[in-house]
Amino acid sequence: MKPALPTQLKVGPHRYTVEVVPDLRNEAGAACWGQFRGEEQRLLIDGDALNRPVMLAETMLHETVHALDKHYALHLSEDRVRVLCTALLSALLDNPGLWAVVEAAAGAGKEAK
Ligand SMILES: [Zn+2]
Repeated sequence: MKPALPTQLKVGPHRYTVEVVPDLRNEAGAACWGQFRGEEQRLLIDGDALNRPVMLAETMLHETVHALDKHYALHLSEDRVRVLCTALLSALLDNPGLWAVVEAAAGAGKEAK
């Protein structure tokens, strides 16, 4: 089952458009799974990631952490972003109950509006 990709990422008051790009490349021309382009308010995901749910989840988390890094001035290196996202995704996948708590919080947030 292909996961539904959000069309926007909201970080504080800012909204970033999530776009799927075939054959996504970085500035050096190398293939990549995702890119956060803060100045353009875009988050790009390589089209092949849609067929790889774990890679898609890790990429979405990775680019989201780049957005958080920008807005909260965390000053994370690329390596720290990579390690944090891998660790966070592993914790979520290894502990379904943890994700259930997050989902319940999301539902409670909607009810409060
Ligand atoms: Zn990165």
